[in-house]
Amino acid sequence: MSLHEVTGVILNRRDVREDSRIYSVFTHERGKLEVFARGIKKPKAKLGGHMEPGATVKLTLVRGKMGETLTAVERRHYPNDIMQSLEKLASLGFVLNLIDSATKTEAPDPMLASFLQEVIDRLEILQARKTNLARFRLWFAWRIFRLLGLGPELDTCVHCRKALTESGVRFSAILGGWLGLECQAFDAQAPIVNTQARSFIHALNRLTWEELESFEIDVATETVVARITQAQLHQILERPLPAEKFVNFIRTA
Ligand SMILES: [Zn+2]
Repeated sequence: MSLHEVTGVILNRRDVREDSRIYSVFTHERGKLEVFARGIKKPKAKLGGHMEPGATVKLTLVRGKMGETLTAVERRHYPNDIMQSLEKLASLGFVLNLIDSATKTEAPDPMLASFLQEVIDRLEILQARKTNLARFRLWFAWRIFRLLGLGPELDTCVHCRKALTESGVRFSAILGGWLGLECQAFDAQAPIVNTQARSFIHALNRLTWEELESFEIDVATETVVARITQAQLHQILERPLPAEKFVNFIRTA
């Protein structure tokens, strides 16, 4: 049996058997890993306190019957500032859930691992305003679409691949992208999206967070884009995210 070390962020955990857990961890070295932690819920277990979702940890693992099994933890970072705010916590839940739901295990992606850490660091220093956090989640979702190659083409019709016309463009969640005027019959239920909403989506894809934070847009347009983003998320994941209800509740409370 050989020990090996990985560093990453804890995405999720679930209970197994009476006193054990399986953790989902996004690591720099190997992408997402499922890590078995035997007896971690026992009152005397020392490792449990370090293994909170959102924490950055260095793990020592051994490959056993239950797959990768935890033998030691060293906590590198814990986002304490996020834990002080219910709204930030909800946003962190959204970030962790989306990455957990949209990735497969054992698919190394160092760029995504670095981006995840960057997002947590940014969220820590972000002002905990509802509008700010809602936009932050939008920015994050579109970055993830891009990083994972799941985002819709921004400039071409999803059906005929021609450049989009100025007006009458629809967003079809079923087809996974924009429908030009000439192809509207292929999803007549898809809502027409005006040019303001489309330019905001361009901004979400192309601007840095600092630029986007001060991007002026009316509330109605931002709401339209939030709905498109949600439809895209459902399409990709084929189900709502576990944290999504909570995030929506926060946004409207
Ligand atoms: Zn078309």
